[in-house]
Amino acid sequence: MTVLRPRELLLEELRDALVAAGEPRYRAEQLFRWTHQKGATSLAEMTDVGRAARERLAAAVDLTPLQVDLSQTAHDGTTKLRLVTADGRKVESVLIPERDPGRVPLTSREECWQAKPASTHATPDDDKLTLCISSQVGCAIGCKFCATATLGLMRNLTAGEIVDQVYRARAIAGRRISHLVFMGMGEPMHNYDGVLRAIRLLCDDLGLGFSTRRITVSTSGLVPGIERLGREPFQVNLAVSLNATTDEVRTRLMPINKKYPLATLLGAIRAYPLARRRRVTFEYVLLAGVNDTDADARRLVKLLHGIPAKVNLIPWNPHPTLPFARPAREHVLHFQAELKRHGIGAYLRETRGDDIAAACGQLVAQAPPAA
Ligand code: SAH
Ligand code: SF4
Repeated sequence: MTVLRPRELLLEELRDALVAAGEPRYRAEQLFRWTHQKGATSLAEMTDVGRAARERLAAAVDLTPLQVDLSQTAHDGTTKLRLVTADGRKVESVLIPERDPGRVPLTSREECWQAKPASTHATPDDDKLTLCISSQVGCAIGCKFCATATLGLMRNLTAGEIVDQVYRARAIAGRRISHLVFMGMGEPMHNYDGVLRAIRLLCDDLGLGFSTRRITVSTSGLVPGIERLGREPFQVNLAVSLNATTDEVRTRLMPINKKYPLATLLGAIRAYPLARRRRVTFEYVLLAGVNDTDADARRLVKLLHGIPAKVNLIPWNPHPTLPFARPAREHVLHFQAELKRHGIGAYLRETRGDDIAAACGQLVAQAPPAA
């Protein structure tokens, strides 16, 4: 029997492999449940698998998990995990609780930064725990404002490595993860097969039974990936990192814009078969003096016309080697107000975890921890 990695395999594939190895059909369900529902990392944990079967399978089954190399919690409760793959690559995941119960009330100044839509304020969801996961080690896209870009692309993560970020994070958090966002290291559409397989594994009822409505895939705008995602039989949430309102500025910030300029990108989004009552999220990193003018706000409104959309404004998270600045808070609020005035749902993404470099675009797992 060749090496079997249950974390990588869909249930039917696991069943085929185990049946071919002379195991009964139900063995696949057992292994699948333990691996994906319980996050098991060894056969020894699988108490309902007979001892003889465990011994038979021991030589063939590889359940090596990601190793948790570092777990750092920021003042706001955000926890950054640095995880090491079997071949020694490092990736990061970030656990983001909706509210930190131990935290003293925010000062009004901070509260402005952390402004949220009124509905979220009215019904705070204490159980909400979002995990931001990585799809690649590094990234090939090369956005000029992003720390991950400085690494270049080392390799894609396998589906098993993607789902294991969830299982390790859940073990550390000690509670259910309610939302998943592919907004860590990497461009998910560059690892389309790995990401989609991971989503299937996570959503399987014999596994965590995750709802596709609680999964968001964020892309820098790879049009073929968006089109492909639109053809899938299920729908996850789509987020697009727009970050500029003219081709000139966007190409400067995000070289991918040369290949898929704004008109092409927005055309693909307009053609996306969005499910009823869903919206596309547009992420917009605010860079002082680069993409944050009133003219930008006006152009953004025009660009999004007719698209069921919301905009997440992300004041740039600094990185020492990158030549940008975060706009002043008042300016960020003004930009947000301009969008709202024109009927666009515009939210300020909390700048969470920035004291431990766990915020968007600060994920560079290969660097020493900033503690
Ligand atoms: N590669 C995908 C997903 C990961 S990046 C994508 O680009 O969409 C997640 C988000 O972080 C993107 O919206 C990106 O624009 C944003 N981002 C990158 N660097 C940032 C930084 N330094 N400050 C704030 N946001 C940043
Ligand atoms: Fe890659 Fe996203 Fe960073 Fe761009 S913003 S370099 S696509 S991770």
